[in-house]
Amino acid sequence: MRALPLEFSEYIWAPSTEELARQVELDVSQIVRFDGNVPAQPHAGARPGAIAPALSDVNGYAHGGFPALVRAIADYAGVEPENVVLGAGADDLILLCARTFAGPGDTVAIAESPTYPLYRIAAQLAGAAVGPDNPVVTFSCRPNNPTGELGALPSARPLVVDEAYFEYAGETAAGLIEDDVVVLRTFSKAFGLAGARVGYALAAAATAAELNRRQAPQPISNISATLALAALRDRPDVTDQIEERERCARALAALGLHPLASATNFLFIPVDEPEAIGAALLRSGVVVRVFSDGFRFSVRDCEDDDLLLEALARALDRPSPVAPAPARRVRHLRATGETRIRVRLGLDGAGRVRVSTGAGLYDHFLEQLAFHAGFDLVVEGVGDLETGPHHTAEDAALALGEALDLVLGDRRGIARYGDAVVPMDDAVARAAVDLGGRVAAELRIERDPGLAGHMLQSLAQAGRLALHVEATGRDEHHVAEASFKAAGRALRAAVRSESTGIPSTKGRL
Ligand code: PMP
Repeated sequence: MRALPLEFSEYIWAPSTEELARQVELDVSQIVRFDGNVPAQPHAGARPGAIAPALSDVNGYAHGGFPALVRAIADYAGVEPENVVLGAGADDLILLCARTFAGPGDTVAIAESPTYPLYRIAAQLAGAAVGPDNPVVTFSCRPNNPTGELGALPSARPLVVDEAYFEYAGETAAGLIEDDVVVLRTFSKAFGLAGARVGYALAAAATAAELNRRQAPQPISNISATLALAALRDRPDVTDQIEERERCARALAALGLHPLASATNFLFIPVDEPEAIGAALLRSGVVVRVFSDGFRFSVRDCEDDDLLLEALARALDRPSPVAPAPARRVRHLRATGETRIRVRLGLDGAGRVRVSTGAGLYDHFLEQLAFHAGFDLVVEGVGDLETGPHHTAEDAALALGEALDLVLGDRRGIARYGDAVVPMDDAVARAAVDLGGRVAAELRIERDPGLAGHMLQSLAQAGRLALHVEATGRDEHHVAEASFKAAGRALRAAVRSESTGIPSTKGRL
């Protein structure tokens, strides 16, 4: 074995979510990772149906490579297919560039410090030294990880520019590939496909050919290529994430902290005792990346980020810059061959609801139910809508029911029963609910636009509740909507905390 330099240190992964949960004695579902610089959700195209064709030829190689993906990347990046090199993530391409440009006796320069450690690792694995003098190649991270800043483009050549966060920054060196610049990009960040391991390099045709000669014969899998191609057909819009990053930056400033200006999906916050803050956040289930002079967290979405901001305020013993999260809350994932639905439910919420599965009308009905129940609810997911809304709407209701069952736990202290009458124009719905744990769905929804009754039945089944709904009217939308509202109002009464006891004369449910 060829010895590594004495100063070599390998890439160290953060512990697994299970390991972190064990350390702080929390359930795995209560751990929220803000340390991976990846979006909170996978790409919408990443579901079983999308990869089914690739799975059906997973016994074979991709003879001839992935011309359709290379073409699509070239179109996306504004170059020609001969300028594109595929790799298993940007990491693979960093390693490829280092071994292509450098070897024993050479020096590799790294423009930023601190920065992503893989440039150093790749240079040393290639047998080269790292330093500023007479480099054979220079690596630059733009925007830079972990600071998030978009510095000036170095004038050194050859130059490898890592644009892993390009979509957030909007600035690229791709126009300089004929000037001895290689650009690295990835599907791991804005495209939400980190686990699929797909990245690409953009380079002058001759450089790309040399890189490809040194690359593994098939560096990415058929399955990953399919996911990346699907992602390019439905390109991410990062506007919301950028707005959310700025909202977080303002909240951090209100906490007396000074996050660095960022051109990415993460923020770096210089602090005096990063280890202590990281440990305190972890006790609340919040995982950030700790550095010697600060910590970094990836922006997820408003509900998750508020968790972090609140936990941070507690750790610093300062007033929270955001509204407190409800005490009775749960996170739940239901993933099947047909759908993937993620639920965040807070029972004592403020009616902050967002249901987005693509099942249109049925998303709207679940939002009505949650709003009138006074829940905070986020349901996000994707389903095989090409088969119609059935699987998606049903699984959204089942996922909500499962989350309700989880958050109610042993159902101690709740009112248990609730009822409501809700008129809506020509329609009127009456609902009664029993959260005693016995499943029943007695539903008479006179006009059902399709799946309303089925969803309420699914909710009752997964939530282990008895639900009675009677609804009449002339307009089917009104009848169904009044049913969901009435079920929501009934739930609001039934989940109310009333005592510490079991709500049954039997003493058990
Ligand atoms: N470059 C930078 C700057 C990164 O932050 C990361 C991921 N942390 C990577 C490359 C690796 O990305 P990939 O998943 O594409 O290998």
